[in-house]
Amino acid sequence: MTERVDIAVIGGGPAGAATAIRAARAGASVIVVEKGSHGRDKICGDGLTPRAVAALNELAIPLDGAHHIDGLRMIAGRQVRELPWPETGRFPSHGAVWPRRRLDAALIDAAVEAGADVRFETAGDPIVDDDGRVSGVRTAQGDIEAGLVVAATGAPGAVARTLGAERDPNEPFGLAIRAYVESPRHDDRHLEACLTIRDEHGTWIPGYGWMFPCGDGTVNIGVGALSTMKGFKQLNLNRLLDSYRSLVADSWEIGPNLERPRAWRLPMSAVKRHGPGWVAIGDAAGLVNPMNGEGIDYGLESGMLAADLFLDDPATAPERYDRQIGERFDGFLRTGRRFAFVIGHPWLMRTGLRFAVGTQRIADITLQVMGNLVDSSTPGAAGRTMRVADRTLAAADPILRKTRARA
Ligand SMILES: Cc1cc2nc3c(=O)[nH]c(=O)nc-3n(C[C@H](O)[C@H](O)[C@H](O)COP(=O)(O)OP(=O)(O)OC[C@H]3O[C@@H](n4cnc5c(N)ncnc54)[C@H](O)[C@@H]3O)c2cc1C
Repeated sequence: MTERVDIAVIGGGPAGAATAIRAARAGASVIVVEKGSHGRDKICGDGLTPRAVAALNELAIPLDGAHHIDGLRMIAGRQVRELPWPETGRFPSHGAVWPRRRLDAALIDAAVEAGADVRFETAGDPIVDDDGRVSGVRTAQGDIEAGLVVAATGAPGAVARTLGAERDPNEPFGLAIRAYVESPRHDDRHLEACLTIRDEHGTWIPGYGWMFPCGDGTVNIGVGALSTMKGFKQLNLNRLLDSYRSLVADSWEIGPNLERPRAWRLPMSAVKRHGPGWVAIGDAAGLVNPMNGEGIDYGLESGMLAADLFLDDPATAPERYDRQIGERFDGFLRTGRRFAFVIGHPWLMRTGLRFAVGTQRIADITLQVMGNLVDSSTPGAAGRTMRVADRTLAAADPILRKTRARA
């Protein structure tokens, strides 16, 4: 059986749900296929930046179920800085923590309410015509023809391979692991990020450990690491989490893990994010900030943009999507990836991190970067600093890439 819709979305995470909500509310016919069941979990830190809160507000998703967050506590060695989310005029001055099981359910329920036809436990594959155009989605139940196929499948897998939209093998990526623990500080109003973490051998890790309070008796504890470090393939994330756990055990008075710690990939690039008849959004497009591993906000934004451009003009939507995503994010993400190579050198990392948290002015900029508040159009000191960093790191980039393995 073949059905016909305006937009077929593969993947019902935040990015796919954002496309579905936006397009269905505007009257487009939308099918979402999601291989998981309703309320499936996603391995995540559950942290919502002010940028993510802005996107959820734009989608009119009430945040009643989320724990309100006022700012970020950054820790580098013995230095601790507690900073409120800034007033930017562009994003609200608060974030949130919302466990993904509940956040993703709220989003996909909103898509259903908007009129999207959401099919759980249904895996989809793009149908590619002889001329290379993606014309729809194949499922076990039948084919769905679509004016636009949106790949919202998260970290690259089979769908990315079919589309040729995999991670760029020359660019960094991340791995992160998380668990939930009980803590009397579950309703702390700050995200906590420890930028100086070491593995069980004392090796400095380019990445950070986090305590993200959920406000429901539990805290999301996790660590993430970048592929630019020496010995990345041997890194044991479970043991890294144990090391971080012992660092925070007393100050957070944490109990045992409530479930087995689980790890997942953080894609930070994609060789392609559009083609005839299709676009990739969210993690499937490599839209994750290499400096903090966060991507829910970018997923929501790219999801909405894909829908808006299709509604405006289906024929040109994929090219315009690619261009506009590039204008908004490419410069910042490129700088972030170069920064990932910098902190892959342990001595550069230690010096850089002391600098990043050392003075109020620089810590404020670090805060904006960690809050995904900076992109290509950001005015003020943070935007200027990122543009200067982009040019400086561009010059140093070939050396940093070549030397990282011997660092
Ligand atoms: C440990 C960890 C911690 C993180 N912490 C944070 C954080 O605190 N804040 C933050 O902003 N970001 C964080 N991230 C990143 C964040 O999780 C992602 O950026 C975000 O989930 C991207 O959303 P998405 O909709 O693009 O993809 P996903 O949320 O991965 O959703 C993709 C969906 O597609 C479905 N799917 C895949 N293939 C198919 C198929 N063939 N057919 C049908 N369905 C399919 C999957 O089942 C899944 O539901 C973290 C990531 C990790 C790994």
